[in-house]
Amino acid sequence: MMPTTMQARCVFLGAPGAGKGTQAKRVAGMVDIAHISTGDMLREEGKSGSELGMEAKTYMDAGKLVPDQLIIDMVKSRIQKPDAASAWILDGFPRTLPQAEALDQNLSNDNALTHVISFAVPEAVLMGRLTGRRTCARCGAIWHIAHKPPAKAGICDNCGGELTQRSDDREEAIGKRLEVYRTQTAPLLAYYRDRGVLKEIDADRSPDIVFQELLTQMQ
Ligand SMILES: [Zn+2]
Repeated sequence: MMPTTMQARCVFLGAPGAGKGTQAKRVAGMVDIAHISTGDMLREEGKSGSELGMEAKTYMDAGKLVPDQLIIDMVKSRIQKPDAASAWILDGFPRTLPQAEALDQNLSNDNALTHVISFAVPEAVLMGRLTGRRTCARCGAIWHIAHKPPAKAGICDNCGGELTQRSDDREEAIGKRLEVYRTQTAPLLAYYRDRGVLKEIDADRSPDIVFQELLTQMQ
């Protein structure tokens, strides 16, 4: 079994719908590690109506990547917070080569990346996962109309909140997100493979099996 504290500084890589966010939440629920989701951070900024949030939202709603510098600054300040002192998982960052290089430059040898985990899923499978996804507007729980339906349609089992389809989970935005992943994020696999930190997981399997393999890879 994994210890309850770990010195892991990880990047989780995967196309939209590959399940990396769900897996990151599971790991963070089990060990003392900060789950840093740039998508969640940006959506919170968007809800708060901050300038950064409003700017980011216009890109996300169109299925585009938020500009590098905006994200880099946000992540830099986040990993300096006390809860991220020894261990963190970056979920949704880096998404481009410039972001990956900025991350490397920002980490000293003492706190360099320890793992980069890639969650591999075929595109046709991703499309089905994403178009059926519904998110709880209140607690953020994620459901699926076919694979993980709530007891009552449109209502979150956890908190009774209303389930909504995220604007970036609509079909036209998904096509763009997958294309952006292919062209901008997939090249990071080679970048991290060259550095000897990349581990690849076949994530077209049940979440429990993927989770077990993930724990093994993170030892
Ligand atoms: Zn909820």
